[in-house]
Amino acid sequence: MGDILTRGVSKAGHIMATACRTTDLVNTAQKRHGLWPVASAALGRTMSAALMMAAQLKYENSKLEIQIDGGGDLGKIIADARPDGAVRGYVENPHVNKGLKEGGGIAVGPAVGTNGTLRVFKDVGMKDPFVGTVELRSGEIGEDLTYYFAVSEQIPSAVGLGVLVDTDNSVISAGGWIVQMMPEATEEEISMVEENVRKMPHVSSLLKDGVSPTDIIKMIVPDYVEMETLPLRWECTCSRERSEGILRSLRMKELKGILEEDKECNMHCDFCGETYHFSEEDLQKIYNERVKEIAEKLAEHDS
Ligand SMILES: [Zn+2]
Repeated sequence: MGDILTRGVSKAGHIMATACRTTDLVNTAQKRHGLWPVASAALGRTMSAALMMAAQLKYENSKLEIQIDGGGDLGKIIADARPDGAVRGYVENPHVNKGLKEGGGIAVGPAVGTNGTLRVFKDVGMKDPFVGTVELRSGEIGEDLTYYFAVSEQIPSAVGLGVLVDTDNSVISAGGWIVQMMPEATEEEISMVEENVRKMPHVSSLLKDGVSPTDIIKMIVPDYVEMETLPLRWECTCSRERSEGILRSLRMKELKGILEEDKECNMHCDFCGETYHFSEEDLQKIYNERVKEIAEKLAEHDS
């Protein structure tokens, strides 16, 4: 069972719904960043939400990023996702030992903190991205997003997010759902959704039991009509070439400094945990090429 996202509407079109299973992705994040359980839970919830929100963006090259900065021990939590199902993310402090409850549950709020904000950046190809910011309410993320949708986008919503972590820190199940009421929604439809949400078991237990995202959504919206299913994947935009580009854009003095003092350089990507190593030989080559480029530019200028 790979990670997947389903998106659709109620038969009458008055309720929008999305659900996802992100177990493999959160396991990938756990391994790449060496996340401890509360960090897996916080980042996993944020990644699931970012994927579901990105899936609603209309343009293929759009990007959506969620930044949570609650002043808690975890520090900043960042996840960004694209409508085609790609996601990446990280937590500033992955080794936090807070929030573990008896019986294996995790309280994310105390580690995220409530002294700060949740921000959503939507880049849909316009000049400036859309940015929505709300104060954090509980730090549990699902509740904070419900508040974000109400205040920043004026959409009455219900959000369920969950990550279940095993004793060896691996992720047993992860995923979530978002249900949103359109302005045409009737009183009956609203009370039906409210009632069903109240009765919902925790999303991570449902996923653990093998319930599919589509069947999870049908527990809230029984006449759910699926519009799209999307396979999900971990993907980062970093590469060795990009890292080399950054080195090439340094001032010659800085480049020479690294070459003479450090003799090597490791370029680290926070988002995916990848490190690109540049040896003295690599750096010398970049340096020599830059010298040549500058000499050629000067010669051009003189002629
Ligand atoms: Zn990366």
